[in-house]
Order: sequence, then C-alpha cells, then structure tokens
Amino acid sequence: MKDNRGFLAEIMNIKEKVTSAFIKRYKESPQFIVRAPGRVNLIGEHTDYNDGFVLPMAIDRAIWVALRPRDDLAVKVSSLDFSKPCEFSLEEITHGDGWGEYLRGMAWSLQESDYPLQGWEGVLASDIPVGAGLSSSAALELATARSFWAVNPWEWDATKMARLAQKTENEWLGVKTGIMDQMIVANGKEDHALLIDCRDLSSQLVPLPTETAIVVLDTATRRGLIDSAYNERVSECQIASEFFSVDALRDISLSFFENHVDKLDPLIARRAHHVVSENERTLEAATAMKTNDRVKLGQLINASHISLRDDYEVSSEELNIMVEIANTQEGCFGARMTGAGFGGCAIALVEKSIADSFAEKVSSLYRAKIAIDPQVYICHPSNGAELVKEL
Ligand code: ADP
Ligand code: MG
Repeated sequence: MKDNRGFLAEIMNIKEKVTSAFIKRYKESPQFIVRAPGRVNLIGEHTDYNDGFVLPMAIDRAIWVALRPRDDLAVKVSSLDFSKPCEFSLEEITHGDGWGEYLRGMAWSLQESDYPLQGWEGVLASDIPVGAGLSSSAALELATARSFWAVNPWEWDATKMARLAQKTENEWLGVKTGIMDQMIVANGKEDHALLIDCRDLSSQLVPLPTETAIVVLDTATRRGLIDSAYNERVSECQIASEFFSVDALRDISLSFFENHVDKLDPLIARRAHHVVSENERTLEAATAMKTNDRVKLGQLINASHISLRDDYEVSSEELNIMVEIANTQEGCFGARMTGAGFGGCAIALVEKSIADSFAEKVSSLYRAKIAIDPQVYICHPSNGAELVKEL
C-alpha cells in the first residue's frame, strides 16, 4: 500500500531512477524528461461504446521517459521494468514483439498523419501496475508521442494525440479499445476529472470535491472471460438500440426507456437499463462535483456498482466483497467496480483525512475474508502527458 507521502517519495524515485539510468548509459544528463499518467474511471462504465459519457481522472502514477535526440532516424529505448530493449528505424517501421510494439505503433500512427519524426534514445520506468486496469498501455502510447514531440516539436493537440494513440491500439496492436483511456491520459489536469462525451469527444474538466480522496482497490483477481463477455455486451447494446430505433443507447433518456421497454427481451432490457441509467448518473456526478457535493457523488458511485452488478452482470464476487467492505468503513462516501469488470479494481471515494487508515482497514478485511492480498493505491488527480524537464 502506498500513502501520499510515500507516493511523493516514489514519484521522485522514478524520475531519479530514469535520470540516473540514463546518465549511467549515456554518460550525460537527459535532454528531456516526459511523463504520462495512468488513469481510473470514476463513473460511466460500459457507456463509451454506446456514444455516452465517462468521467475518468489521470492519476499520480506514471510512465517516465528520460531521453535525448539522435541525429538519425533510429529509436532506441530500454524499459527498467522489462528486459528486452526496443529498437527500430523510422525509415521503415515494421512489427516487432513485446512492449516495443506500443512505440512502433505510435510512431506509425504519427507518421500516417504526417507528423515530422526524428530519432531519439532513452530509458523509461513506471509505477503503473501492468494489466491492472490503470491503463499503462495508454500511458506508454502518450509518453511515446510526447517523446517524439520533445525532440522535434509540433503544435500539441492532446485530443488529436489521443485519437492517434487509440489508432495504435486498434490498428497496430489489433486491440479493440474505446477512446476513454487515451483521452484522459492526454488531457488530464491536476485536481480534476474529465467529463468526456464519447460521441464527439468534447470534454469538460470537473474538480474533485474538496477534502476527498480516490482510493483504488485492486482485488488482485483477473478473469479470462473478459473479451468474450465484453463483445457480448456490445452486441446486446446494439440489439437494444435497434429496438429503440436510435443510433446508440446514448440517444434515449431513462423516462423514454421506461415508457417503451415492455416489448424488449428482459435480458437485453436489463443491459440497456444499465447504459441508459449510467449515462444519467455520469452527468449527475459531474454536477455533484461542480457543486462540491461529495455525498451525492458517493450515492451515484454506489448506484453505478449495483447497476453493473445486477443489470449489466459484469462484476465478480471479489469486486462485490471489496465494495461491500469499503462501504462499511466510516468516511467512505461510495465505492464501485471500475473498468470492464470480472476482476481488477474497485474505487472508493473517501474523506481525505481517513484515506490512510481506510486503505489499511479495507486491505486487512479483504485479506481476512478471501485470503488474497489486495493492492491499494491512494490516488491524486494529475496532469496528462507532459514534458517535465528540458535541459
Ligand atoms: P493496462 O491495463 O495496464 O493498460 P495492457 O495489457 O493494455 O494493460 O498494457 C500493458 C502493456 O503495456 C504491457 O504488457 C507492456 O507491453 C506495456 N507496458 C506497460 N508498462 C510498461 C513499462 N513500464 N515498460 C514497458 N512496457 C510497458
Ligand atoms: Mg491497456
């Protein structure tokens, strides 16, 4: 478990870690240091592929890159977290394997959009757990884009960069992901979450209520089911939008849904009910944040969990246990599963002053109940992908 003080020390550690690894390797200081954060979604789950609303925040765990330009078209990067280095030429970008695919893919999508790329070399390190649902992959994509930008700048348009990072995952890596992760990793802002309209990608920063903290509660369980269940939910939503004769479930309100649902298959109706109600909750959550109403925000977070558990059926026993334990603690305003589901993380909105003891209590109760060690991170909303040092 990491508290905020440990966390600050850790941020310095990672920055120092990449800097000293760079100096050791290249015998000089890095010319640039860039960072790109992980993210967590506060509310708005399984709404993105329904053209709906999501409300994620970038977190203070990030991938850091220390680098310098090269005067040719080669890219040479090593990760302190993986053994094999990544090396390729911008003259002709071909597929490789492992984590370097994210860098190659990002270079390819930037090139496809005619951004002027120059070679660079460096070292990266991260404190975003891999595969835990905090989107280390989007962080790596945006860290790569920022690194290319640092050595040969162009006008940085965060949303354009997010689209190119999504293109990397979809077309270079063949992973069907929505745009949420890349949008928030590119556009995050300290102390804020970002309300994103997934139809037109317009977005609005909303402040986290004062004196609250977001605690990420990783159940330390991962399920293989996730891809097939995900595709099944996508098709069920399509069936529902055809039934209602709309482009996407985003186009109907809860009252319209209730007045017209009676002839819809009951299972499809439950799936659609989740999406339609979740869109409304997400908009209400943004309003609650703007009015600094943490109690209301907590209630909406709780309602989101119940809807994901009962209507959308993407929760798991461990996630339900984690959420239940969190909600029995004093100072917890609400908790829910976050991400696609079937395992992974929950989040809790808690009173800032009790965040440390909350994290400890929830960890030990969860461990006692199911004999699995959870990972718990107290998170602070942070900036999106940025240049933090220029020599
Ligand atoms: P996540 O939920 O964390 O995004 P993904 O499976 O989508 O999980 O992406 C994880 C992949 O991102 C890793 O397998 C690796 O290829 C790459 N990655 C993440 N962190 C690092 C790192 N520190 N160094 C190199 N590659 C990384
Ligand atoms: Mg990912």
